[in-house]
Amino acid sequence: MRNVVLMGPPGSGKGTQASRLSESFGLEHVSTGEILRAAVRGHSELGLKVESILAAGELVPDDLMMVLIRETLATVSVGGAGWLLDGFPRTKPQAEGLVEVLEDLGIEAPTVVEIVVPDEEIVERLSGRLTCDKASHVTAKGDAKEGDPCPECDGALYIRADDTPETVRNRLNVFRAKTEPAKAELARNWPVVQVNGLGRPADVTQRIAGVLEAEH
Ligand code: AMP
Repeated sequence: MRNVVLMGPPGSGKGTQASRLSESFGLEHVSTGEILRAAVRGHSELGLKVESILAAGELVPDDLMMVLIRETLATVSVGGAGWLLDGFPRTKPQAEGLVEVLEDLGIEAPTVVEIVVPDEEIVERLSGRLTCDKASHVTAKGDAKEGDPCPECDGALYIRADDTPETVRNRLNVFRAKTEPAKAELARNWPVVQVNGLGRPADVTQRIAGVLEAEH
């Protein structure tokens, strides 16, 4: 089994890379943001709890996230080629929780990859993107407008409630305050490989694929 944790700030291309890599390596793509957005769309109990948190670019409480991730990883770790975690852990307690969950499930250390992108580039990318409502494919605002069909599937493009410039800045602050310590905690337990996230998406995929292949 090949298990991967993909880290990186919002707008680092993490979601795009996660989709591409999970497809080419046959991994289960576990995106906590996508699971939460689907819950909001479906008006489930979880969705109602987290809707305003997501819209503000804040983090969903750790206890809720730990229940979600424990259940999800227990399911996707049975059979299959492995999984790729996108958007988790986001805090130090989540990182500690992840180490514990994997121990409980008898899963060996995952490959941790961090996509590195400078802040200025991130704000520019996030305030200029459209997301599809079906599979979270990303399109630049210059290439399409809200309501257009997704170029990659039969979804429709929309602007995520947390992609406004103000929320983007908040998400970056949250990232620095909360998610940097999560990365440090993972690095205390497992090696973290840094990959340059600048350039064409296909080139970044190549770089990360090279890391995953070297690990196996
Ligand atoms: P993402 O699609 O990964 O950018 O996540 C979108 C939003 O979902 C985040 O801004 C948070 O509000 C929430 N979220 C996703 N993953 C987590 C997590 N591991 N912990 C807390 N909140 C999360």
